[in-house]
This record gives sequence, structure tokens and C-alpha cells, in this order.
Amino acid sequence: MKLLSKSRYLLGLRCHKLLWLDEHEHDESPPDTESLFRLREGIAVGERARAFLGDGVLIKSPAFASELALAETQRALDSDAAVIFEAMFTAGGAVVRTDILRRTDDGFDLIEVKSSTSVKDEQLAEVAMQLWVLRAAGLSVARAFVMHLNSECRFPDLSNLFVIEDVTETVEPMLTEVARELAAQVAMLDGPKPETPFGPYCKRPEPCARFGECWSGFSEHHVHTLYRIQWKSIEKNLAAGRDTIDKMDESMTTVIPAKRQIRSVRTRERIVEPGLGAALATLKAPVAWLDFETVGLAIPVWPGCAPFTQVPVQFSVHWTGRTDPPDNRHQEYLAVAGEDPRPALAADLVRVCDSAETIVAYYASFEKGCIERLAEAVPAHADALRRINDRIVDLLPIVRDHVYDLAFHGSFSLKKVLPALVPTLSYADLDVKDGGSATVLLAQLLLDPERIGGDEAVQKLRRQLLAYCERDTEAMVRLAEALRAMS
Ligand code: SF4
Repeated sequence: MKLLSKSRYLLGLRCHKLLWLDEHEHDESPPDTESLFRLREGIAVGERARAFLGDGVLIKSPAFASELALAETQRALDSDAAVIFEAMFTAGGAVVRTDILRRTDDGFDLIEVKSSTSVKDEQLAEVAMQLWVLRAAGLSVARAFVMHLNSECRFPDLSNLFVIEDVTETVEPMLTEVARELAAQVAMLDGPKPETPFGPYCKRPEPCARFGECWSGFSEHHVHTLYRIQWKSIEKNLAAGRDTIDKMDESMTTVIPAKRQIRSVRTRERIVEPGLGAALATLKAPVAWLDFETVGLAIPVWPGCAPFTQVPVQFSVHWTGRTDPPDNRHQEYLAVAGEDPRPALAADLVRVCDSAETIVAYYASFEKGCIERLAEAVPAHADALRRINDRIVDLLPIVRDHVYDLAFHGSFSLKKVLPALVPTLSYADLDVKDGGSATVLLAQLLLDPERIGGDEAVQKLRRQLLAYCERDTEAMVRLAEALRAMS
């Protein structure tokens, strides 16, 4: 059995079965583009944090050479090094590499570095686990800190990029539970696969990576797919034998789209409300169908940006006019490497959208937020940008408040709604198929094009990203046509 690392301990804390699967049926598939990017970004944040703390001793032996790393750590502890990076300790069946140890008068402070702008619950659990291992290994550790990114920091002044938050009083009371949980995980890994029941941990904070294999036996309209259902309500329904939505009654929820979903599942029919036509009539031509792609970096690189500020770097607009025949056309913008993308993008967006009567987006609060940040960053176009925001209409609530199709499965995201209502259009033929991949590929394209390859590879990626964003706005146009046909 492998020793429990910080990340594996957190898997077990979420669900013992998840840890058991990681140990005995490890998923060998390589990490996707998004995971690799976030990993590299985490490493860059760690390096910045080390530079922030000044000179220190870095334990260089790799994790797999644990004997060497432990010996190197001991030599650093025995020296007079004020700061030690990546020290390794083992105790109680666990092994940890601490981001930073800072020597104090009576021992050391433990500092965990995180690429987030606040301290999260799972980070506290991780710090508590480390603190327990360090003390069990014989190190005197008085205080524990999380060093996270500062949401008040603004590029180019990165002198306040980090906040170091003392979490000692929060994690000290967690140590008894760490000892119990570590022992339970070690014992569990020696036994058969645990029979963990379906629980809230399967869906939060994000859907479990093993969800499909764990619960492939669920019926198509299982209660957990009811729109906005809370875990307590799932439990109550399962306890009452209502495992599928057709066993529920509309009176069991106060959420209107969920009531419509129950009606649809029970009747096996698509529901279309009479108000759909009137809602669509608010989309006055000419319409600019707008979608942004953004880049949000842990360490900001453009003036005025904080960590993870979502900066629009690409847009697609499908234009549907009111002339006969309509002057339909497509326009797009994609930034180039090496410059702040916002001034040119803002100018182009204003030019493209200025004469539109209506600007339509799907989940428009995202586009509105992008435009407001653009207005702040590019004052020369601020008024025109805010006039665009005044004319934005959100297509998502028009769908959510008037239509339910069985294939939505409780979600009104464009990726769920499109195949149900416009089955002839999909993302399957594209190289870039989702927004998560698009955002990391855009970051590479604009900030690290050497990693992509030569000019040919860069041009190919640009075409792929343009095709993805264009599909998003084409999808809205086709979706509105389908909605009109059914209204
Ligand atoms: S899907 Fe749920 S039960 Fe299965 S491993 Fe994940 S968290 Fe555990």
C-alpha cells in the first residue's frame, strides 16, 4: 500500500470508496489540457511564493526517492536554514511535502501555498493533516498558515500578490479527527472496496470523477437530476422510495422549472409554455448574438487585473438583420500574443454591436460582467460598451421559463439544451469542444505560444478556437429559430 499523500488523504476525506479506487483501480489516463495548465500554474504560484519569502533551502530529491528526500530534509533541519521548501515527513501511514517551513524561536511555522483567493474548507483539512504528520514525526510546529493569492492585488504591482493567513486556531481542534481519519483510511485500503452509498460528496464541490462508473445503474431520470434539487430533498425522496422523477408530484417542489420537469417526465412529453412567443418577441432585430471566451490567470499579466480576473480575449457575433432578405453575417475577434487584448477587442466589439437593437447572450451575466470590466479597462469606449450592456437580453431564462425537454436532464446549459432542440448542430466535429479547454488553450496561445509549436501550429490553434466560439453563437441563432418554430 502506498503512503497517504496530502491529495490522497483529501480523496479519502471526500469518500473512502474514491480513495480505494485510486489505490486499487487507478485511472491511468493522462491528465487533460486543463488539468495540466492548472498544474503548471500552481507550480508558478509556488515558485513566486518562495521568492516572496526570500532565501531558503529547497529539498530537491524527488518524491519517489523518499529515503533521499527524508535525509535531505533532516540535514536542512539540522542546519541553521531559516526557511525550508518542500521538506518531506512521514508518520502514521502518511507522507507530506510541506510547501514552506519557517524557523521560529521555538521550532517552525508551517505555511501551505494555495492558488486561490481565500482559504477553503478542504485546504484547512489539508493543513491539519500536515500539522499532525509533522508533529507525529517529531517536529515542533507552533503555528500554521495558508499563503493564498490576494484579490486586492492589481498588476503591475505584484508586491502584495500574497496574503498569509494564520489558521492555527481553526486547525488545532481538527487534529484529533485527523488521527482517527488517517487510521481509518489506512485500515480501509487493506480491505475490500467499501460500499459507500450515494451522497452529497458525489456531486460537490464538483461532480466526482468516478460518478459514471459508481452510479451507471441509475435510471435516466433519477431524482438527483431534478433542477436545483437540494441534497436533503434527494434523501427524503430516496427514503420514500421515489428514486425517479416520475414518482414525484409537482407539489413537492416550489421551483417552477422543476415543476415543469416533473410534468414532462411524467407525461414523457416536451413542455412548451404559451408565453414563449412573447418572450422571443423581445429580441428585436437587428440582433447581435454575442459570446466571449476569457482568460483568468492566477498571476495577472495585464494592467489593473487581479488574480483570476476574467479577461475577454475573443468574441464571436452572429448578426441577424431586419431587411428582407436579412443581412445575416458573422464577425469575430481573437487577440494576438504579446499585447493587452482589451483595447483592440473593445474597439471591435463596439464597432460590431453599436447598431444592434438587441444583443443576445446565453447566461448573459457572464457577458455583462466582461463588458463592465472592459469599460473600466478601456475608458475611451466605456460609454459605448455600457450602452451594449443596456441592450443585452439573456436567452437562457427564455428557455428555462418556457420549455422543458426530457433530454435536458435538469440542466439549461447550452451544451444540454442544444442537442435536445437542435439535434443537427453539435460540437462533436470541432477540435475544441468546451469552454474549459478553450480558456487554457487561449492562455497558451497569448502568453506561451512557444509551447504550442511553430507558426503553423499557432495558426491551426487559432482556427480551432475561432471555430469553437463561432459555434456558440451559431448555436444561439439556431436555438432561437427552433424556439420560434415551437412557440
Ligand atoms: S461517485 Fe460518490 S460514491 Fe462513487 S467514488 Fe465518487 S464520491 Fe464516492
